[in-house]
Amino acid sequence: MSTETIQQNVIQEVEQFVDEEIRPYVNQFEEQSGIPLELIRKMAAKGYLAAPLPYQYGGLGLDPVSYGQFTEVFGKACPATRSLITVHTSLVSETLLRFGTEAQKDKWLPKLASGEVIAAFGLSEPDVGSDAKSIKTVWREEAEHYVLDGVKKWITFGDIADVFVVIASNQGKSTAFIVERSFPGVTTKRIEGLMAGRATYLAEVHLDSVEVPKENVLGKVNFGFEYIVSTALDNGRYSIAWAGVGIAQEAVDAMVTYARNRIQFDQKLSDFQLIRGMIGDSVTQVHAARALCLRAGELRKARDSKATMETTMAKYFTSKVAVDITNNALQVHGANGFTNQYPVERLYREAKVLEIIEGSSQMQQEIISHYGLRQYYKRSKKR
Ligand SMILES: Cc1cc2nc3c(=O)[nH]c(=O)nc-3n(C[C@H](O)[C@H](O)[C@H](O)COP(=O)(O)OP(=O)(O)OC[C@H]3O[C@@H](n4cnc5c(N)ncnc54)[C@H](O)[C@@H]3O)c2cc1C
Repeated sequence: MSTETIQQNVIQEVEQFVDEEIRPYVNQFEEQSGIPLELIRKMAAKGYLAAPLPYQYGGLGLDPVSYGQFTEVFGKACPATRSLITVHTSLVSETLLRFGTEAQKDKWLPKLASGEVIAAFGLSEPDVGSDAKSIKTVWREEAEHYVLDGVKKWITFGDIADVFVVIASNQGKSTAFIVERSFPGVTTKRIEGLMAGRATYLAEVHLDSVEVPKENVLGKVNFGFEYIVSTALDNGRYSIAWAGVGIAQEAVDAMVTYARNRIQFDQKLSDFQLIRGMIGDSVTQVHAARALCLRAGELRKARDSKATMETTMAKYFTSKVAVDITNNALQVHGANGFTNQYPVERLYREAKVLEIIEGSSQMQQEIISHYGLRQYYKRSKKR
């Protein structure tokens, strides 16, 4: 069997798993304020917490394109399980695979793959978001270890994570540390009242004179941004790009189904041109969004230097498209779209957060515009 066939078989299995184990219970996960730990164990047993990792660490060896499609399947049905995959696998495990020492990889990757430990990524703080280089969490060196002090906020799966990659600063230079929940001085506090991500155990992580062993530096001291943050966010943006496609496609499915069934003025909604206008726009947008993600995936697979910029554009575009399409889908549903008896209410909320996380849309516009200003500048020719 070819590698491609094996990977496509994984995607088919994932679709079946998601339909049986996740899709029927998504509202329940929100009501219970968290996806069940039993579900996380089931996902881990199938290798779904380590889909892009090599087999030697317990992964499924998916290439970037297949991993993107895998992410879409989860994102389409359940943004909370997709969020787990984004932080646990894309931000933490893939970054550890790239920058971890052999000892760190041997220690952590099998445990992350098996779900024995859940990982979270701690960059943002109460006073620091987009301007991430200004973080106030600090580290200092002592003879035997490093000591961390500070607070991280909005940490996805932070309330149940066993291990955190924490970015901390020392005189303006940052370093990434592997911090275990069991270290004295680590506490977490659940964040409530969320518009979306209600089943993702979002938390503050408090670090109160936490002693971190020297071997727990990830990457190099003082290279936290250059090595870890840039790589983790690039991986995260790729995941969010596909998450946007998933939400957008689910909204298109819902909109089309509803429009073909709902009767007003003795006609189906789908008979009205203004409704078909929204459907036509939405179908085109979701196809364009998927095409951008596939291109980013192919470039990542080929380890092409253009991959990061294309990933940024895919993240920016698909989150915008997800917001537009879920808005259209809710409009087509009318009042029914306002209830959780239909999926569009949840999709509408979940789409919005994609424009904020892994670098807000304005930050992506900044990055893309700087690229555009360099790339497409036509110097005037001398006469
Ligand atoms: C559900 C959820 C999950 C999250 N998970 C994590 C996680 O796991 N780990 C983690 O570290 N963080 C996480 N975050 C935090 C997230 O990364 C930040 O919210 C994000 O970086 C934006 O920062 P901010 O919210 O502080 O907004 P701010 O930086 O305060 O920005 C506010 C607004 O101003 C705009 N803005 C800021 N600066 C500029 C500028 N120079 N030019 C133009 N516009 C600007 C922004 O685009 C935004 O619209 C999560 C957030 C949410 C909501």
